[in-house]
Amino acid sequence: MFRTLKTGLRIWRRRGAAWPGIMAARVAANALLRLPRGLMVEPTQNCTGGCTGCPPPEEPEDLSPELLARWLDHRPTPPVTIHFSGKHSDPLAAPHLRELTETARRNGSMVSISTIGLGFSHGMEKLPVDRWIFSIPAATGEGWKALRGADRLEEALAAVRSAASGNAPMVELVLTVWRQSAGDPGKLPGVAAAAGAHGYKAVFGNYDPEGRHFGRVGNLALDSPECPYRLGPDGNPELKVKPRGCPLAGCLFLDASGTLRPCPFAGDDAPRVTEPSREAWRRAASWTGFKRNRAFPVCRYCP
Ligand code: SF4
Ligand code: SF4
Repeated sequence: MFRTLKTGLRIWRRRGAAWPGIMAARVAANALLRLPRGLMVEPTQNCTGGCTGCPPPEEPEDLSPELLARWLDHRPTPPVTIHFSGKHSDPLAAPHLRELTETARRNGSMVSISTIGLGFSHGMEKLPVDRWIFSIPAATGEGWKALRGADRLEEALAAVRSAASGNAPMVELVLTVWRQSAGDPGKLPGVAAAAGAHGYKAVFGNYDPEGRHFGRVGNLALDSPECPYRLGPDGNPELKVKPRGCPLAGCLFLDASGTLRPCPFAGDDAPRVTEPSREAWRRAASWTGFKRNRAFPVCRYCP
């Protein structure tokens, strides 16, 4: 709560006196039209991670700024937040990241990028972004080696330092806790302070039922009492506490191919729309009920 308030005040200072009023009007317009007020955008299918056992697609798609602009032009009202994020990919690998963030900035009240920080190049600290979220899988070099196959912690922290030297109102460091980094949350405050992050938090890694990337069973911090998962009778992870509604009910997901989906995880059996139009946004608004009821097969793994 305090962090959200601090972020809001910093953005207000940067975006000018009219910012809260414009944002409030957009919140009201989205509510009136029953549209989720947030939009998550995957800028590319490529990744800068180079982790062992996770090859990027042979021909990764990149979202063009023109296609993002078309989707936003057809939206009945602008979204409140636009968040660039990857799905087994990373925004920093996108060739058009500057143009995409500029388009987002013109259309959203708050623009953020979530990244692993690898491949942060000179000038990225000046992107028109309100909030950077750097996600690390471990706060020690050993944890990185165990999880990613190489220790690139210092490279990721150098990216945090660069972003903090730019003009983004908020730069956060998030530790995703896995089995190999289950002892790291206590180290996070020191690591975040040394990197100049404005805020930090630790979250547990989510189970990925596709068994790919980090979210496979062997990486879950199942021995940590706070981990949301335990092994069920069938040997598969299950949530310890019956979850409430969808954690992403308030947003939609535009993937790098320009397809609008309910969320990054819902899978190919979930509804989607491929062509921008007002009707497409109306259809997408109707998915909120499915999400609130956690009706997609993978919903049962979302904490
Ligand atoms: S595991 Fe994640 S960060 Fe590593 S290469 Fe794959 S998608 Fe990128
Ligand atoms: S998988 Fe289901 S619960 Fe999880 S974010 Fe998507 S819609 Fe929500």
